[in-house]
Amino acid sequence: MFSTFFVPLPLIFHTLIMFPPPIEQLPLLARDAKSANKRFFDQLKRRKPANLDDTVAQIHNEVFEQYDCLTCANCCKTTSPLFKTKDIERLAKYLRLKPGEFIDTYLHIDEDNDYVLQQSPCPFLGSDNMCAVYEHRPTACREYPHTNNRKFHTLLGITLKNTAICPAVFAIVERLKGELKL
Ligand code: SF4
Ligand code: SF4
Repeated sequence: MFSTFFVPLPLIFHTLIMFPPPIEQLPLLARDAKSANKRFFDQLKRRKPANLDDTVAQIHNEVFEQYDCLTCANCCKTTSPLFKTKDIERLAKYLRLKPGEFIDTYLHIDEDNDYVLQQSPCPFLGSDNMCAVYEHRPTACREYPHTNNRKFHTLLGITLKNTAICPAVFAIVERLKGELKL
């Protein structure tokens, strides 16, 4: 048992990382953690624990219970979702545009040959961080940040990238490193 006046630094750090960090601290924290995260993910690829998906989903739920995305919206401000044909058709219909008009107005094709937004922040993001097309948003937006998807071990590359974009993903990965014994 620790005395009231002595709390070891690792415990303080572990307590801090239970919560998503402030967005302004995220780039530095993610950069500092990148090598350790990459090593951890390499280990995960080599030796995937049987309970990986359930463990990540549970941590995901706990982290997002404590976090309000409306205070953040960093994903909508800094990255673009991929727009599949069904997303384009659904959004175009909602906005009373032809799919071609929707593409010409909002999208371009990136280096991977995917449709993405022409600009960041997303043009559908309001100043209150609300999404103006929420019910019709692309599937990629619904699934972001992918930490409660099954087959998490196939999403390690994108998750590593997302530690620098999404404070919740950063916290989830820190928790995962503490909880999974590899
Ligand atoms: S998903 Fe992540 S980056 Fe997007 S608003 Fe929520 S916490 Fe922020
Ligand atoms: S469509 Fe909505 S949820 Fe998706 S990036 Fe734009 S504002 Fe965010």
